[in-house]
Amino acid sequence: MTATLIDGKAVAASIQQKVREEAEMLKTKYGVTPGLATVLVGDNPASKAYVGSKQKMTQELGMYSVGVHLPADISQDELLKVIRGYGEDPKVHGILVQLPLPPHLDQETVLGAVPIEKDVDGFHPINVGRLAMKNREPLFVPCTPAGCIVLIDSVGTKIEGARAVVLGRSNIVGLPAAFLLLHRNATVTICHSRTQNLPDIVRQADIVIAAIGKPQFVKAEWLKPGATVIDVGINAIPDPTKKSGQRLVGDVDFENAKEVAGAITPVPGGVGPMTIAMLMQNTLNSAKRAAGLIK
Ligand code: NDP
Repeated sequence: MTATLIDGKAVAASIQQKVREEAEMLKTKYGVTPGLATVLVGDNPASKAYVGSKQKMTQELGMYSVGVHLPADISQDELLKVIRGYGEDPKVHGILVQLPLPPHLDQETVLGAVPIEKDVDGFHPINVGRLAMKNREPLFVPCTPAGCIVLIDSVGTKIEGARAVVLGRSNIVGLPAAFLLLHRNATVTICHSRTQNLPDIVRQADIVIAAIGKPQFVKAEWLKPGATVIDVGINAIPDPTKKSGQRLVGDVDFENAKEVAGAITPVPGGVGPMTIAMLMQNTLNSAKRAAGLIK
């Protein structure tokens, strides 16, 4: 069996096109331009690249992009002042604080300083708390896990009643992904580094979300035939055939897994593009909410 390839690039492009059209409509009909502020602390090259692509996409979709690049040794008080400034700026509908932060800064306090109505990353403790509770709705859902759910839906996999296994329990991917599946009435198992008999657990899953950060860790033999597999991992492995000497792979052994899975995301080109697309959608929704168009 050869799995259906889940094309994250195409799904992300269609979401971005809708965001572009709605942003244009908001501007012409209501005089509101959705705005995203990015806050980058320090010189982590990956973080710089991520922030750069988020700003570029914001502009490409006709939205307002503003950002600061702060020194790695900035004090917590100074950083909180910057965030509060964006919190009060009516042109800004979303504030993104790029993680990870340097170790002297308290992540919980910093993320808690983003007003929940501008928390487009969905990391504010109140939004996380609402996501974790039954019958509560967060204003925003974290972008990468939200993208995973859209990808599962894009191939028509039924989530309700399915057995889902999430590998990883991080605050930004694994845990929110598990809550989102639970909200959609899947039966969810969360696995982590102390989980015993991982292959046996994964074998029961109709849906697998892998977010552990270990290259090609999930083997084809672990998968239930026909399962939908969402690979969040982004790992660089040596590859002498490439100019850079390396290439990116996911947490799943893709080449073999695609012969067993029913549908699977590639890396790159699967979950990656969805993260930015969902951030753009969250920013648009925030502007719509500020304009009183949605709750
Ligand atoms: P973290 O390092 O924060 O979390 C990794 C999780 O995997 C932890 O919960 C850890 O368990 C678990 N884990 C580690 N080893 C094992 C193991 N052997 N068996 C089972 N579980 C294990 O990573 P993130 O969640 O931030 O990211 C995961 C991956 O996703 C990374 O490759 C990252 O680059 C990628 N990523 C991709 C994004 C995208 O846009 N596509 C966005 C964000 C991340 P424990 O809790 O016990 O330590």
